[in-house]
Amino acid sequence: MAAKTEKNCRYCEITLNRNAIGLNKKLFEEDTKRSLYMCIPCMAEYLECSEDDLREKVEEFKREGCKLFS
Ligand SMILES: [Zn+2]
Repeated sequence: MAAKTEKNCRYCEITLNRNAIGLNKKLFEEDTKRSLYMCIPCMAEYLECSEDDLREKVEEFKREGCKLFS
């Protein structure tokens, strides 16, 4: 496989931004090891929470100084 850093949602194939990728790594580490990622809307559906909840989560990780998030 070519060295490609771009990640796509496993469901809707949208290209993920840095924060979405970081969130996947935080919440679904095992999946990301197999290159399985989800976008924020699909993740919200999967977890049965709102997209805002997930964005809030991203902000939380940022406040903790997590380098996975921009
Ligand atoms: Zn998606």
